[in-house]
Amino acid sequence: MKSITLKAPAKVNYLLDVIRRRPDGYHDLRMVMQRVNLCDEITITLTGAPGISVICGKNGVPDGPGNIAWKAANALLELAGGSQGAEISIAKNIPVAAGLGGGSSDAASVLMGMNELLQLGLPDQRLMEIGVKLGADVPFFIFKTTALAEGIGEALTAMPRMPAAWVLLVNPGVHVSTAWVYNNLKLTNRGELAKLPPFYESVADICSIFANDLESVTIPAFPVIAEIKDTMLRHGAVGAMMSGSGPTVFGLYQDRETAEQARAAITGNSDWFAAVAETL
Ligand code: ATP
Repeated sequence: MKSITLKAPAKVNYLLDVIRRRPDGYHDLRMVMQRVNLCDEITITLTGAPGISVICGKNGVPDGPGNIAWKAANALLELAGGSQGAEISIAKNIPVAAGLGGGSSDAASVLMGMNELLQLGLPDQRLMEIGVKLGADVPFFIFKTTALAEGIGEALTAMPRMPAAWVLLVNPGVHVSTAWVYNNLKLTNRGELAKLPPFYESVADICSIFANDLESVTIPAFPVIAEIKDTMLRHGAVGAMMSGSGPTVFGLYQDRETAEQARAAITGNSDWFAAVAETL
């Protein structure tokens, strides 16, 4: 039986501007997105009979057709025709509903893996078109480059090369619903959007673009997010911010040791999720 194992990385947002609410209920955004090497591990095995099984075994993640990985596999099996099926197992290392894009990344990996296993030879552009129907962040994980993401997140442009950085991710485990965040966001008409620099030579250059409009909703409701940011900055982070709609906070560090020391200082007495990763 043909099988493949893939790593599905998490993402953080260096920038998240909400530009306008669209008539279809989505929002037009301007984001800068960066992959980090905190990864889910996905094994896909092609089977001779139709049907898809997804086993994840993580609280809050559906095991069957409700899993976005199931939908990704289904899309490519339908395209392939024939009578094959797939067994998918996901070792979930990325916190769920955390602003780290774990589900979207799983779906992107399944699209790329199934494309190979089924020998469909679809170009990335086509996989991205299929992916955006599953989730707005899916195309970014197929793009595989630090990106400016516009529209609902699907219009991708490669960002200028950015220096590598160490990333401390801390999730305090409070429940933040993405829908609740957008429903409570007051859109401010700020006029011109800040210009993005054309070159990034240091970690400080990256942090100079840090901004996340969604913090205006989450921080008043969950002050712990601001507390984690402050603690990261006091422990050597060059910049710190909430990722996506939260609640994960990330700090950028120039070296691993400082990031590890900050992790110990922040999570010493708590059961919060914390990981030190590298940018990809
Ligand atoms: P985003 O930043 O795109 O909002 P997120 O990181 O906040 O994403 P995810 O971890 O992708 O959120 O999960 C969002 C929801 O999707 C969860 O409530 C979960 O039940 C559902 N889900 C379906 N499939 C998966 C999957 N493979 N991994 C994680 N969540 C999944």
